[in-house]
Amino acid sequence: MIYRSEALRKLKTFFIRTYGCQMNELDSEIMVGALEKRGLKRVREEEDADLLLFNTCSIRDLAERKVMGKIGLLGRSPKNRPIIGVTGCMANAKKDTLFRKLPHIDFVLGTNNIGDLNTVLDEVLETGKKSLKAQKTFEENINYFDAVRDDPVKAFVSIIRGCDKYCTYCVVPYTRGKEVSRPPENIEQECLKLAAKGYKEITLLGQNVNSYGKDQPEWGELFHDLLYRLDKIEGIERIRFMTSHPCDITVELMEAIRDLPTLCEFVHFPIQAGSSRILRKMNRCYTLEEYLKKVELLRKIVPNIALGTDIIVGFPTETEEEFEMTYDIFKKIRYSVAFLFSYSARKGTPAYRWKDDIPEEVKDERLQRLIQLHTQISTEEMQSQIGKEVEVLVEEKSKTGQLKGRTRCWKKVVFAGEENLIGSLQMVKVTGCNHQTLLGKAIQSNLLSISACS
Ligand code: SF4
Repeated sequence: MIYRSEALRKLKTFFIRTYGCQMNELDSEIMVGALEKRGLKRVREEEDADLLLFNTCSIRDLAERKVMGKIGLLGRSPKNRPIIGVTGCMANAKKDTLFRKLPHIDFVLGTNNIGDLNTVLDEVLETGKKSLKAQKTFEENINYFDAVRDDPVKAFVSIIRGCDKYCTYCVVPYTRGKEVSRPPENIEQECLKLAAKGYKEITLLGQNVNSYGKDQPEWGELFHDLLYRLDKIEGIERIRFMTSHPCDITVELMEAIRDLPTLCEFVHFPIQAGSSRILRKMNRCYTLEEYLKKVELLRKIVPNIALGTDIIVGFPTETEEEFEMTYDIFKKIRYSVAFLFSYSARKGTPAYRWKDDIPEEVKDERLQRLIQLHTQISTEEMQSQIGKEVEVLVEEKSKTGQLKGRTRCWKKVVFAGEENLIGSLQMVKVTGCNHQTLLGKAIQSNLLSISACS
């Protein structure tokens, strides 16, 4: 085969494309670190790469089809083609069937094996054979400290991998395996290093961060304990986390959000559906009433909290009345951030065996109604910010040459200012809004602390 030529044995460059969630983005940063340590140079154009890596996502059918189509096209030019590796959730979900469908792939590396990237690459180069590594569960063998991050202000930090919840529509427990928490000292070390490099915001990542530590009771450290530990780190101004499971959101966590200065007043609190019958069918392990009680308690403890959600419409057997319940709950809670989807069956999940009985046009109509409601609520929320002063962490220059950042509650803000303010906290007076972005004017520099969340 062509790639076994001498030229490709001397790999020099690589290109990586990431699909899907923040955990995948972080995994790509870790793989970039491992490849650069090996001496390879990252290139921004596929055509310039000796190695192509596709870090894939399986969460939705469309995401999978996109990747398959993309890699399929690469097989059409057998001459001088690069080495091709598939990593991420599709690697775990499809394993060696990927070799059958796309015979020009050289290796498949599962989400739980990204620490083996260089070993697998060596194997492919030395033997010229295809290689597959896709363990069911994760073992802590990753060098997080070498991750190469594009963003100089905010960083993702992995704290727990895998998921034990087994929602009936979700592939994650099958692609990423059981929950495995990362030792708190190791997380702290990474955050200290990030702070020393000048990072101001960290987002703690996990499929269910609220489960942190439960698989390691001997550590005696749960999610809120970890937050108290990380809040002490000098230089880290903001801590965020995602994703949460409503079942595991505790009073201790709510109090930590209230009490810890670094913890942002935003919680992703995914309801998924507004009917207890559908929630049971989804295996979400809470009823609507239990969910609403938690939201009420959270809002009592942290009155200025902003909430985010995920919602699936058109789940098998969802009636019009049940969809209306979801719609009404959205209206009642007024989520600031929402990821809205219409149901698509995922192979390997329990729901895949059920009849996908809601017609696509009905799913689409429900989705559009919810999107409209979300847009209306966000617009009202944005307009209510006009005239207020908000704390913004400046992240980058916008396309128009202005500064761009986010409030503690995750609203985008654009305002005029000098580039040297990137990475600092600024007070901005909101003067207007435009779609999903607040427009403002800087009112104070070198801000040290502020308690209001906007
Ligand atoms: S909590 Fe449910 S939806 Fe979230 S990753 Fe786990 S199984 Fe999937």
